[in-house]
Amino acid sequence: MSASIGTLTDHWIDGARTGGGAGSIEVVNPADGSVLAEVPRGGAAEVDAAVLAARQAFVSWSRVPVADRAAMVLRIREGIKNRHEELARSITAEMGSPIAFARSVQLGMPMATSKGVAALAEDFAWSEEIGNSLVVREPAGVVGAITPWNYPLHQVVAKVAPALVAGCTVVLKPSEVAPLTAGMLAEITAEAGLPAGVLNVVHGTGPEAGEALAAHPGVDMVSFTGSVGAGRRVQEVAAGTIKRVALELGGKSANIVLDDADLTKAVKVGLGNCFINGGQTCTAWTRLLVPESLHDQVVEQLVAASAKYTVGDPTDESTRIGPMSSETQRSRVESYIARGVEEGAELAVGGPSRPDGLDTGAYVRPTIFSGVRPDMTIAQEEIFGPVLSVLPYSDVDEAVSIANNTIYGLAGAVFAGTQERGVEVARRMRTGQVDVNGGAFNPLAPFGGYKQSGTGRELGRYGLEEFLEVKSIQL
Ligand code: NAD
Repeated sequence: MSASIGTLTDHWIDGARTGGGAGSIEVVNPADGSVLAEVPRGGAAEVDAAVLAARQAFVSWSRVPVADRAAMVLRIREGIKNRHEELARSITAEMGSPIAFARSVQLGMPMATSKGVAALAEDFAWSEEIGNSLVVREPAGVVGAITPWNYPLHQVVAKVAPALVAGCTVVLKPSEVAPLTAGMLAEITAEAGLPAGVLNVVHGTGPEAGEALAAHPGVDMVSFTGSVGAGRRVQEVAAGTIKRVALELGGKSANIVLDDADLTKAVKVGLGNCFINGGQTCTAWTRLLVPESLHDQVVEQLVAASAKYTVGDPTDESTRIGPMSSETQRSRVESYIARGVEEGAELAVGGPSRPDGLDTGAYVRPTIFSGVRPDMTIAQEEIFGPVLSVLPYSDVDEAVSIANNTIYGLAGAVFAGTQERGVEVARRMRTGQVDVNGGAFNPLAPFGGYKQSGTGRELGRYGLEEFLEVKSIQL
């Protein structure tokens, strides 16, 4: 690991590095189990100090002209660009994302979303007249941001960039599994000239630092991305002070392939979407719904396509699937694969054992199950690994019903012979975003979930609005 990553491991409070907390947390490279660094295990005292700094900084930051706040976000983006390779390598080291994917997507997404939100600032309707009222949009205040490990930079920037443009100040609690990139971002914001206290970073675990932040009376809003269980707990502890809570949670997204779809494209794009980042993507289409008559043909094509997903050392340029983010995640994914076998799903590819030649590191075998029934555990629960379930359906009504029959509603896809037919089915899916025939990711489109996949929306104009209050002034 490069020496500089080892220096970025303190809390960042009021523009200064500081230690503090109940001991420390080891950051482990999941490819080989080596300890990369230690971060302090912050708790209530460190959160108190960070919230105080953010409250003090809010007074002046909220009054900085919006054009200057947007310009600051672009300067931070420039800093990310300048340290692109170092950031990509940090992400690969701390959570195992293959280096080529880290460069293109883990870094590409924050570059796109920060540019998008900065550009929005100019034309955004910061005030409007309704009858005799002047309605103004004002910053929500101090934001508590809690983020997961799967996209350690993107998840942070998706909150921090719009919060800064809105005029909010932030206390960030990054994932304790992959906290190093957030430390580097703090350094980049300081180099960009962001005033002390506008962004603060407190390291620690969810139940300690995370809950202290969500419960804190000095925090006006919590923006959380992570699992349903942790999101529920955040909402519970935040309820004590009636603060606004935005939750971006898990998914079990369905990809509905219609009988007139281009199967080659549906298989290629569908498998890629499920397996990228080792399947550790909240929007992954982990259920592939196919007409009964096409089931075997699709499975055959999937098996052939899966051969391209080489598993191995994430620093190798040709690796498509690295280790899971941690040993805990590896054993969780493996036990779901074993559960699928026990419940009678057919293994088309993979299985509950280590990939050949990878006896150490948090590796799993990319797995495809065929003949999966909608009530099986692997068709209902979020696995968060490279595991695809193929479910046959009899007609479109049944496909829609299967797609909608989980607690989640984050993403989804439809492959159809015509765009009209695809959109018709997309409209029937109870989910926050649907890609038709491989429609590309749009960094300005609202992103978020229905049902237990969350509340609120990130990205673009909707994401900016999350961080704003509305005030009516009667004239
Ligand atoms: P996680 O819920 O374990 O942790 C996420 C964050 O929440 C971490 O910072 C963690 O420390 C914190 N946390 C945990 N318990 C907490 C508590 N009681 N109070 C406050 N904070 C707490 O999730 P993870 O394993 O890091 O990430 C994987 C999950 O995130 C998956 O379910 C995935 O679908 C979801 N996710 C959702 C989105 C989205 O945009 N909808 C994006 C990425 C990941």
